[in-house]
Amino acid sequence: MVAKIIDGNAVARHVRQECKEQTQALKAQGVTPGLAVIIVGDNPASKVYVANKVKACTEVGLASTVYAFEADTPDTVVEAKIQALNADPAVHGILVQLPLPAHYDAKRVLACISVDKDVDGFHLYNVGALAQGETVFPPCTPYGVSKMLEYENIPVAGQNVVVVGASNIVGKPMAMMLMQRDATVAICHAKTRDLAQFTILADILVVAAGVPNLILPQMVRTGAVVIDVGINRLPNGKLVGDVDFEGVRQKASYISPVPGGVGPMTITMLVHNTVQAAKRSLAGAEAQLTESLA
Ligand code: NAP
Repeated sequence: MVAKIIDGNAVARHVRQECKEQTQALKAQGVTPGLAVIIVGDNPASKVYVANKVKACTEVGLASTVYAFEADTPDTVVEAKIQALNADPAVHGILVQLPLPAHYDAKRVLACISVDKDVDGFHLYNVGALAQGETVFPPCTPYGVSKMLEYENIPVAGQNVVVVGASNIVGKPMAMMLMQRDATVAICHAKTRDLAQFTILADILVVAAGVPNLILPQMVRTGAVVIDVGINRLPNGKLVGDVDFEGVRQKASYISPVPGGVGPMTITMLVHNTVQAAKRSLAGAEAQLTESLA
C-alpha cells in the first residue's frame, strides 16, 4: 500500500476561498473582519510567522494590524494595548505571537484578550469551553488537522486515534477535538513507555512531538492515517516532520507531508477564526438592534 498524500496547500486554498467569500459578504454589510497581532521582541521565527499571517489576511481581504513592542516593554503596556483592542469594534480577532520574552507571564497576557476575540483559542475560558464541547475558537493547528481529515472524508467517529505530543497548543486540544468527534483517543508524551505499543493501535495517528524520525514504519498499522504536525530543521537545513515519511508512506492509507501538510493549515484556520469572530459580532449587533426596536 502506498499512502495518498494529503495536500495541505490544496485544503488551505479551499478553506481560504470559503473565507474570501464570507469576507466579501461581510464587507457588503459594512463589516471588514479585522485581526490585531501583537509581537514582543525580535525573535526572527516569530517575525516570519507574523509576516505570513498578515499576508494570508490580506489575500483573503481581512484588515490586519501589527503592534510590535521592544523586548523590554513592561507587560502592563502590552496588557493595556490588549484592553484597548478589546474595546475596538473594528478588531474582531487579537493574537499575541508566542513565545513572549522570558520576563512575561504569558498566561496572564493571554487572559487579557477578550474571549470573543481570542482567535488563537488559548484563553483559559476557551480552553475550558473546548474541554466541555462548547468550543468558541478551536486552536488553529489542531483545527487545521481536523479540517484536513474532513476534506479527505476520513471518518473519525469510532476510530482509534493516537496523538503523540501533549502540548497545550497542539496535542491536548487535538485530542479533545477528536474526542468531540467521537474518536477513542490516547495521548502519548515524552514519558510514555514503549510508544510503539500505542501508535500501532492507531487508525489515525497525529504526531506533534518535534522529534525527527520519531515514527518509523514498524510503529504504524497498515492502512493507518498519519498526520505529521512536527516541523524540524535538520543540521543540513532540510525541513522535516516527526515521521519517517518515505518509510511510513509505504504502509499508511493517507499521510501528510512536511512541508506542505499541516503548516499551511494553521494560518488558514486563524483567518477562518477571525472571519467567524466578525460574523458573530455582526450577528450580535443585529440582535441588539432587534432587541432595542422590540
Ligand atoms: P512542545 O510544546 O515542545 O510539545 C512537544 C510534545 O511532544 C510534549 O508533550 C512532549 O512530551 C512530547 N514529546 C517530546 N518528545 C517525545 C518523544 N520522544 N515521544 C513522545 N512524545 C514526545 O511542542 P509543540 O508546540 O506541541 O509542537 C510540536 C511540534 O509541532 C514541533 O515540531 C512544532 O514545530 C510543530 N508545530 C507545527 C505547527 C504547524 O503549523 N505545522 C504548529 C505548531 C507546532 P512532554 O509533555 O512529556 O514533554
